[in-house]
Amino acid sequence: MPMLEKGQALKTTAGVRIVVEELLGEGGQGEVYRVDYNGEKKALKWYKPETLRDPILFYDNLKNNVAKGSPDRAFLWPEAVTEYSGGTFGYVMGLKPEGYYELSKILGSRKCNFVSFKAAAEACIRIVSAFRILHNNGYSYQDLNDGNFFINPQTGDVLISDNDNVAKNGTHTGILGKPRYMAPEIVNGKGSVLPDTQSDRYSLACILFLILFTNHPLEGSRWVMATCMTDEFAEKLYGKAPLFIFDPNDRGNAPVRNIQVGVLQRWIYMPEYLKSKFVAAFSQEALKNPGKRLRELDWLQVLVRFRSDIVRCVCGNEVFIQNAATTKCDACGKPVAITHTIGLPGYSITAAGGSRVYRCMLGTCNADEALRPVACVVTRKDKPGVMGFRNMSGLILNATTPSGKPKQIHPDEIIPFIPGIVIEAFEKKIELK
Ligand SMILES: [Zn+2]
Repeated sequence: MPMLEKGQALKTTAGVRIVVEELLGEGGQGEVYRVDYNGEKKALKWYKPETLRDPILFYDNLKNNVAKGSPDRAFLWPEAVTEYSGGTFGYVMGLKPEGYYELSKILGSRKCNFVSFKAAAEACIRIVSAFRILHNNGYSYQDLNDGNFFINPQTGDVLISDNDNVAKNGTHTGILGKPRYMAPEIVNGKGSVLPDTQSDRYSLACILFLILFTNHPLEGSRWVMATCMTDEFAEKLYGKAPLFIFDPNDRGNAPVRNIQVGVLQRWIYMPEYLKSKFVAAFSQEALKNPGKRLRELDWLQVLVRFRSDIVRCVCGNEVFIQNAATTKCDACGKPVAITHTIGLPGYSITAAGGSRVYRCMLGTCNADEALRPVACVVTRKDKPGVMGFRNMSGLILNATTPSGKPKQIHPDEIIPFIPGIVIEAFEKKIELK
């Protein structure tokens, strides 16, 4: 039986009236309703009183988060907290829009899976970017798992829900996290070690691996061979003896051939620079030492490169271009010819309509600046083969033409994409090739 009835009226702490319309879903901590909030359709999460370990602390934390406001549009942030009613309370947030699915559903079904790797890469970038903003604001999420994300599998756009456990790093709302997503130290601590930014980073890496490789990073042969998943076994797998399924130094938990086919295939065709980041993120050192985990900026640098390397073959298959060189399509066998590339410090990316250069691709930068666009490749509608290079940095960029002449590129100016042009941006060189 739902805890709230249709038509029931509630009040926020600010005195705004809420009218319950319909039960939308139920989770471990409570129920979610569609409500009318001051004339607007919103979602209301209503807590089961028995699930709140420290209701007063939790209530205060929610009110603090409402007062601070959302750190980014990606968060379905608490907008108002209700008064106590029947021994419990709830909070108001935005409704999930049409076309968005919970990540757990996307991972578990072909029907609403990502339409492309480009969309999956986009979702990863948005998730990392949102957590970068959250962490930079001094919060930790504390309960990061596959139920927190609503993703549009067509575009890769992400909305993050369940922000009620978000708290100032170092403050705890009583939640430890969801099994399979909790960092090893949280699993091992059994309540004595509490979630923080570093444990968020472990869960974040798990989510990224699940999206890109469709398998949990610690669920290899040990998991497949387990006859039954006892608490003791789960503790070993995710806590006491975690081992990455592609750990190059210990193959003891490698995926099982003929059973874990999907992840093995993906591992073969994904680019080395991406795989090496996951090897580092799930190395024994990073699993056991929270301070050694990859930071959001590390992920953004590799994910924006990855997204720029995904090109569609004429047969429709997506091909991962490595080192901006012509690559054979693994579906039809035809080479996907790369005619132009953009040379960046350390590597080159494919130049095609829509290719972008971000600040974090030009070397060390402030995390806030990471996704600042520097330039992009544009194509002419009437002549799709003709490419241009647009300055998106907001600054005047100095360039040198192939004949050695200096040239200034003004903000938003588009220059023809001519191989040999070298552009200086943020004290680094961008070379059109
Ligand atoms: Zn092909």
